[in-house]
Amino acid sequence: MDELLNAAWAVAFYGCLGRERVKKIITEALDELKHDICAGAQFSLPMDELVVLRAESLLRVRSSSTLKPVVNATGVVIHTNLGRAPLADEALRAVYDVSGVYSTLEYSLEKGGRGGRNSHVEWLICRMTGAEAALVVNNNTAAVLLALSATAAGREVIVSCGELVEIGDSFRIPEILVFSGAKMKAVGCTNSTHIDDYRNAITEDTAVLLKVHPSNYRIDGFVKSTSRDELAALASSRDLVFMEDLGSGLLCQLGVPFVNREHAVRDCLKAGSGIVTFSGDKLLGGPQIGVIAGSKPLIDKMKRHQLLRALRVDKMTLAAFEATLRIYLSARQGEIPVIRMIEADKSDLLKKARSLCRRLKGVAANLKLPLLNAGDFAVSVVETGDAVGGGAYPTDSLPGFGVEIRAGSVGAKTLAAGFRTARVPVIAGIHDSSLILHIRTLLPGDENRITASFTEVLDRYTQYPGIPLPE
Ligand SMILES: *Cc1c(COP(=O)(O)O)cnc(C)c1O
Repeated sequence: MDELLNAAWAVAFYGCLGRERVKKIITEALDELKHDICAGAQFSLPMDELVVLRAESLLRVRSSSTLKPVVNATGVVIHTNLGRAPLADEALRAVYDVSGVYSTLEYSLEKGGRGGRNSHVEWLICRMTGAEAALVVNNNTAAVLLALSATAAGREVIVSCGELVEIGDSFRIPEILVFSGAKMKAVGCTNSTHIDDYRNAITEDTAVLLKVHPSNYRIDGFVKSTSRDELAALASSRDLVFMEDLGSGLLCQLGVPFVNREHAVRDCLKAGSGIVTFSGDKLLGGPQIGVIAGSKPLIDKMKRHQLLRALRVDKMTLAAFEATLRIYLSARQGEIPVIRMIEADKSDLLKKARSLCRRLKGVAANLKLPLLNAGDFAVSVVETGDAVGGGAYPTDSLPGFGVEIRAGSVGAKTLAAGFRTARVPVIAGIHDSSLILHIRTLLPGDENRITASFTEVLDRYTQYPGIPLPE
């Protein structure tokens, strides 16, 4: 242990971890290695090299932040696991500007006293959606929860069986309804709900007709759902609240026809939805936030609700959201990364794919790869089907381009694991036996990052062929 602790590679970590921690981590790595040996693992490296390799890599993991940047080469624009929408430059600057100093978060400069946290963005949301009033909370789940708590606690909410969705692995409409204190009344069948199903279910106890965007799934074949207009008319004739959970809220038309098919917040409100809820970090392209927009008396009720205190948003989020909305206000939405990616020009993607392909071929050609059979190792440009993501348009794809790497004996899974564990992790798509780097979701500078990571992966693989990369 003393020998290991005094080696230069270990001493290099003293600064950030301290000697005692370094010692503990080396012990941990040794224990893991012993465990692998007992379990019968075979290694082609000499034991002393293996020890150094394991200890150093664990030290590297422990000394760096685990929440860190990655390159999204999956072609899924709004990738929930990778942080959904990357923010626009202006939004980033706004976060920076208000975070290290005091700010007007809840202070009115006119009154010289208490101001409203919501006031920074409410007028912008109203301007962009045509709503009378608006309120922001932590995310769309919180928006649905608050909206239902304020309008339907102790009363009934009627919702179609075909819309009892689960989004991600944790948002389930029936469960949110329970939390809000409302009673769920599911009507119709999985594939078909008529306006009469809603009408017949209304009782004195009914408070809300709820429409939920199915988002991440589609039912094919015979499908009948009730239109927004019909529901709005029914709700209004019976003095009920018509509420719509849109998921992805769209604030303007985009240059891709299928994207405009649904989600436009302004249209929903115009058609008679009393309340709509949507996320800030899906199609809108801003920070994680939930928006409730619609009728003033209903929003006012939510503003007074105790739950709001638990769901309120932080100054960094508000700064980013206000800046993002201001980009829409001046019709510069092309500056919002997710919109730029969704609207990306196909010939532009092809040009970038060719350029990346050339560079990766260069990397491969410059390395000696004894273990890779030159014959089945290939880098080429391919067409891809990219996705909007974020639980929207599950069956529509955006035609794009990517760089395919076929690594024969190494295998796509091993190569993908190598990319993931590189100093700058690259998350790629795996299709059958090949790995595909989708161009659409790359941000400026990502080409360089991918090239560096590819170099690192191949280097590592040629240096330590006997060490299986994690799968
Ligand atoms: C994404 C989504 C949600 C959850 O929104 P979060 O912002 O992730 O909390 C709820 N409803 C629908 C229809 C969605 O698409």
